[in-house]
Amino acid sequence: MVASRSARERKAAVEAGPLARVKIDVGADQQFVYKVSCSTCTAKGHRPWSTYRPGGDNGFMAAMDRWTFHLDAQHPGAEAPCLAYLPEAQRRLHERREQRETGSTAEARSDG
Ligand SMILES: [Zn+2]
Repeated sequence: MVASRSARERKAAVEAGPLARVKIDVGADQQFVYKVSCSTCTAKGHRPWSTYRPGGDNGFMAAMDRWTFHLDAQHPGAEAPCLAYLPEAQRRLHERREQRETGSTAEARSDG
């Protein structure tokens, strides 16, 4: 569990690029909680940007998608491997929105 968590953390950190701070916690119910925060936006003294997603691969994917959007919107020109997946992330976001509109998911997030 612990080795797997730190391995995921390293992998996520590589994909998220040098601006990201990636942390994976294990929640009370033993599921991973992915946290990605922005080192630049924090260092400048603005409200720290971060996204927080519980879950398995879905949580990892959702956190990375959010981070990818942040990079694209706030740090044009930044380089990170995850930016290669921006079109996929946008497609997933679109799919999630459609699911929300049809009421098939019960998502309650505060950081969107
Ligand atoms: Zn930022």
